Amino acid sequence: MNRIKTIIIFLLFFLFSITLSSCHPTTESLLLSKKDYYDYFDTTIYIKIWDENQITDIQWNEIENILKDIQFTFKRTEPEDYESESELHKLNASAGLETPFKTSDDLYEVIKMGIEFARETNGKFEPTIGPLVDLWEINNPEKSHPAPSEQAIINLLPIINYELIEINDEEQAIYLPQQGMIIDLGAIAKGYAADKLVEYFKTQNIEHAMISLGGNIYAYGDRHSKQSDGSYNWSIGIQDPRLGESGSIATLYLKNKTIVTSGIYERYIIDPETNIMYHHILDPHIGYPVDNNLASVTIITDSSATADALSTSTFALGLADGIKFIESYPNTEAVFITKTNKVYITSGMKDLYDFQIKNNDFSYVD
Ligand code: ADP
Ligand code: MG
Repeated sequence: MNRIKTIIIFLLFFLFSITLSSCHPTTESLLLSKKDYYDYFDTTIYIKIWDENQITDIQWNEIENILKDIQFTFKRTEPEDYESESELHKLNASAGLETPFKTSDDLYEVIKMGIEFARETNGKFEPTIGPLVDLWEINNPEKSHPAPSEQAIINLLPIINYELIEINDEEQAIYLPQQGMIIDLGAIAKGYAADKLVEYFKTQNIEHAMISLGGNIYAYGDRHSKQSDGSYNWSIGIQDPRLGESGSIATLYLKNKTIVTSGIYERYIIDPETNIMYHHILDPHIGYPVDNNLASVTIITDSSATADALSTSTFALGLADGIKFIESYPNTEAVFITKTNKVYITSGMKDLYDFQIKNNDFSYVD
């Protein structure tokens, strides 16, 4: 009897150790991964967590709740899952009415951030871009549809102006004085969400994770296992910005950094009559997509919300002003790729991240 017991215990132990070793963070294979958050932010989201201690279902629920909350705060259109409207939707609906709108901490913080970036870029980053985004139907899943008329664009320009926003720090209130004004935080919200997830991981002692919110990446902690060069850096590709290409032009090796790209290939429409493609980053001063020969800008820094705002800002500023802008930011580097496959990098890219182009179609310009 004792023998049988010993065999059973041995078998159980054996099975247990197989389960354990298949979860050990010694290889590239992930311990835990979730990819089924597709609906948040209208983009593909995945979160992979490598840790010796598996995280619990409760923690996954918390992660999902964080994403839900942020979407419920920042998504302009009404989220289908919710009975009521999002907070930003309510704020926008109050435009032109008598009373200022009291906001949550999250919404207030991100709107203030949007205004700050608008000031720093002379309005090229524009948090009141909403009416133009809607007119262009940038977020319409049907990519093929006509561009709006010039007159319709011109009519909207007077309400596209962050200087019209009135803010009240004491009341934490926002006032949009003109009817039709719409705040759009699509250029910061995903980065803000990534930062919130990292904050949560820190409270839970989760140490290694890769967050990707539609291309907004946070390589959190160091990599769970050694790279071939002996380091614990994550490797992250910078996407080839040409339409229809899915490869990368270079690989970054880093840890505890966020990498955010804004590119013309991400969201766009094609006018079926003219076959002209219009991408999703708009020049607020003229109402048309920014047309400055940039194909993508990638930012590498510590805060993902900042990286997100910077990627859109520098894209809108263009190459020369964009590089200058990033060089003035602490702990921040960038890679600019033009439509003619030229690559421009900020001064720390080579030393800090050993940046090298691996696709022969692309070349550096110093
Ligand atoms: P994505 O969200 O696709 O990763 P970005 O972070 O660059 O790309 O944000 C682009 C989004 O920001 C657009 O879809 C739109 O909602 C909004 N937007 C467009 N033009 C501007 C602008 N000039 N300033 C601020 N936000 C903008
Ligand atoms: Mg952005």
